[in-house]
Amino acid sequence: MEKDITCDSPAERYVAAHKVEPKFWKKKRPEKFTKTEWELLCDGCGKCCLNKLEIKNKIYFTSARCRFLNPENCLCRIYEHRFEKVADCRDITLQTVLSEPEILPQTCAYRLIVAGKDLPDWHPLVSGDAESVHKEGKSVKGHQTINESEVKDYEDYIVEWPNL
Ligand code: SF4
Ligand code: SF4
Repeated sequence: MEKDITCDSPAERYVAAHKVEPKFWKKKRPEKFTKTEWELLCDGCGKCCLNKLEIKNKIYFTSARCRFLNPENCLCRIYEHRFEKVADCRDITLQTVLSEPEILPQTCAYRLIVAGKDLPDWHPLVSGDAESVHKEGKSVKGHQTINESEVKDYEDYIVEWPNL
């Protein structure tokens, strides 16, 4: 059985990148990805951990981050136990991406790949640098966010960042 990728630092997430087929996302369909490949596809942007609102059938992202998201590195502080501790934390499976792409930002690597697009140059699997997603301003890091525990009305925090 494949070992779960740990998520303690951005660089650690990509250690396993050397163990998978180079450019695997160009060579096979998502349903053929191994668990490690699927996990590596995540660019670590943290934007799916922002709270969202649905208003008149449209999803709006807010700048209110899950209380377990570390805004300094955009990683989950409780990754291994996230589904036990956060009832509405979503498992990003292929089925999730196919049926509810709108809960993910448009830059999300899963959305791009499922839509038949390539990964951008700033994706860590392409750049070889776990920090490139942050350096290019594609992640939560660098944006002003607020811990969800401090929010009274989510509508006050709706954002329209260019990369959502
Ligand atoms: S939005 Fe997509 S790429 Fe970004 S952290 Fe979430 S699952 Fe990963
Ligand atoms: S618990 Fe879920 S929503 Fe919260 S930071 Fe972790 S992965 Fe993101």
